Amino acid sequence: MSSHYKPIIYIISAPSGSGKSTLVNELVKLVPDLDFSISYTTRSPRGSEQNGKQYHFVLREEFDQMIAAGEFLEHAEFDRNCYGTAARFLREAEQKSHDLLLDIDVQGARQVKDKLPEAVSIFVLPPDRKTLEWRLRKRSENPEEAIQRRLAAASREIENYNKYDYILINDKLEESIESLEAIVLSQRLLRSRRSLSSEEKEIVERADLHRLENIRQRLEPILASFGAPPPSARP
Ligand code: ADP
Ligand code: 5GP
Repeated sequence: MSSHYKPIIYIISAPSGSGKSTLVNELVKLVPDLDFSISYTTRSPRGSEQNGKQYHFVLREEFDQMIAAGEFLEHAEFDRNCYGTAARFLREAEQKSHDLLLDIDVQGARQVKDKLPEAVSIFVLPPDRKTLEWRLRKRSENPEEAIQRRLAAASREIENYNKYDYILINDKLEESIESLEAIVLSQRLLRSRRSLSSEEKEIVERADLHRLENIRQRLEPILASFGAPPPSARP
């Protein structure tokens, strides 16, 4: 009964607070046949989060059992909690002929790219460190200590930007959503291997603006605000 559709896997990573969840929520509304992989986590729900919607919230024992049973495509520890992607989401996407979006950290992204090199990876960056700090505070469920931990983590994570296929600087929300949609659609168009209409070519061109080699200059001040080394001429 299994179909032969090979889902496109989109990996999206970002320092916590960059606006990734906001972008992903909008993206899945805009793009048909794109499933969001609802991760398992041992952290507690934040704000209005609901079990089974943003995450499956589980106890550490349940998480460890899933690891032992080989149920994860990838899993990692982040900010004192465990997070993992259940492999079954990929099987379900395949059966439905859908593509799959993974919102995972840089450790998880590395694991998925090792297993599935054709996965498309996108790194979301805030416009600078101050803006990130402000966005973390705005999401007021975070205690100060967690904000400081996440800012420190952001400085380390940001150095991984050059391992990703696309970079999205989340400054103006509307623009970022349009660019993210273009990235997702352009990969579908490119994999269709047919000749593209002029409108479709525009989508691919818009997405290409976010390829690492085309965005290096804009990265410099962002990296500097986090005290990270400047982008080198070669990845
Ligand atoms: P993440 O999922 O990356 O941790 P969120 O999506 O929760 O981040 O966003 C963090 C905060 O920043 C939220 O309050 C969100 O509304 C806000 N935000 C997201 N994107 C933007 C943007 N482009 N401009 C201004 N605020 C934003
Ligand atoms: P938050 O607690 O802010 O929702 O997420 C913290 C970090 O965990 C984010 O970078 C998010 O992308 C990452 N994350 C969420 N789910 C998973 C997952 O299933 N696997 C991995 N490796 N990281 C995840």
